[in-house]
Amino acid sequence: MKELVIISGKGGTGKTSLTASFAALYPSAVLADCDVDAADLHLILQPKIRRREKFRSGHAAVICAEACTGCGRCAEVCRFGAIAVAEPDETGRRLHSVAPTACEGCGVCVWNCPAQAIDFPEQECGEWFLSGTRHGPLVHARLVPGSENSGKLVSLVREQARQLAQQEDREVVLVDGPPGVGCPVIAALTGAQGVLVVTEPTVAGEHDLHRVLQLADHFRIPAAVCLNKWDLHPEQAARMEKAARAAGATPVGRIRYDDAFTAAQRQGRAVVETEASALGDDIRAVWTNWCAITGVTP
Ligand code: SF4
Ligand code: SF4
Repeated sequence: MKELVIISGKGGTGKTSLTASFAALYPSAVLADCDVDAADLHLILQPKIRRREKFRSGHAAVICAEACTGCGRCAEVCRFGAIAVAEPDETGRRLHSVAPTACEGCGVCVWNCPAQAIDFPEQECGEWFLSGTRHGPLVHARLVPGSENSGKLVSLVREQARQLAQQEDREVVLVDGPPGVGCPVIAALTGAQGVLVVTEPTVAGEHDLHRVLQLADHFRIPAAVCLNKWDLHPEQAARMEKAARAAGATPVGRIRYDDAFTAAQRQGRAVVETEASALGDDIRAVWTNWCAITGVTP
């Protein structure tokens, strides 16, 4: 089984639209939307949810008002300023409370509270889903806004997608990865058999590409590069392909700028599902070339 990951140095490069087109071109894959902070593959693939599970991760302190004596020890030891102190009540007790968005879940206040007035429940950070789509099964997730541990959720989505591929004897897991080079991207990349970096011909794009390719190289994952909207700046596109080669990656194609790209998104369809076009041909060529590198039969 091969895990192929599509990533970008930043959001908005067309990564998800490309993933949807690849899914349409290779419907025997298991799909995994690992862009859990801003999942949007479902907008194109319109999944029917078959299984839904809570994602719990980390803990947060909650002060029990009845048990709190107002001694102030928790506020002293909290290094994150997460404890709020109210005005004294009629008995002179200053009620303490935890601001949930400021609590880092370190547990220091829990250990230090002399009245044992602080609960430390596991946090519900989101949900993950196993769904059916017109192009095969999809594992996807929703992170509660402001929640952390998205890297952990990415790992969970990947693991579920791998298990499903094994159960259904599918040879490819296509992963729509998160943008950037942070923890969620590392969680999406490690152990994968191929990565495709989708980028655009801009100075910022070149900088991001450099960082992402360094990451792929660090994890020894064969990297391919696709220049989206290459014709907006052909010289910059050529320069970036040259830089990609120098970094050990393989340019696998260029995709022209075309309004049909966003038109397909608005219709909830992959580009290759819309009427035949040069844009669709560009995307097919990228998929075929990437398959040649990864050893997948297109
Ligand atoms: S340490 Fe415990 S008892 Fe003291 S103020 Fe904090 S929660 Fe209340
Ligand atoms: S768990 Fe840590 S961060 Fe949260 S309120 Fe307690 S001491 Fe502060």
